Amino acid sequence: MLQLAEIFYSIQGEGTWTGTPAVFVRLAGCNLACDFCDTDYSLKQIAGIDEVVAMVSAAGGDCPTVILTGGEPFAQAETGALIAALRRDGRRVHVESNGTIYEPLPDDVWLCVSPKERIDPRMAERANEVKLIVDERVPEEHLAAFTDKTPILLQPEGNKPANVRIALEYAKAHPRRFRLSLQTHKFIGVQ
Ligand code: SF4
Repeated sequence: MLQLAEIFYSIQGEGTWTGTPAVFVRLAGCNLACDFCDTDYSLKQIAGIDEVVAMVSAAGGDCPTVILTGGEPFAQAETGALIAALRRDGRRVHVESNGTIYEPLPDDVWLCVSPKERIDPRMAERANEVKLIVDERVPEEHLAAFTDKTPILLQPEGNKPANVRIALEYAKAHPRRFRLSLQTHKFIGVQ
């Protein structure tokens, strides 16, 4: 069984896939406790894998993209099986993870890693993009495990102007690898 916080249909507001319609499956619980965390990932519902696949259809119809987020999706033992079931249902699966728990993933799964206090090197190697939270500074110490080929998206915490300035200047100073990622869904007032 899977522990769920919420399932909703919206657009991806951040990162490489900004603007893409997607069904979000927010899994409950996290193995970290970051100071700046503003996500409500508390447990609201327990459901089986087939029920979750049906809820994704009910929320987003035939929307091809499903984003598993949290909390930490890989903190739950059945997340790998959920990914397999969603792919069988014809969905493109993205996962947003803190990268601390190793999970082997099919090549067509998009993995966004947002590194915090530690990381599993296998998840760093597998990451398609890195979302680095900029909160008064760019925490470069979290990037040691990533190779140069992985794009780094600098995301200002809370879209705060001071954090935007720091991220923007850093991206301009390191244009080959770093990009600015804003939480665009917050600008337009969607979830
Ligand atoms: S890893 Fe993400 S969800 Fe977990 S506590 Fe940190 S910011 Fe919140």
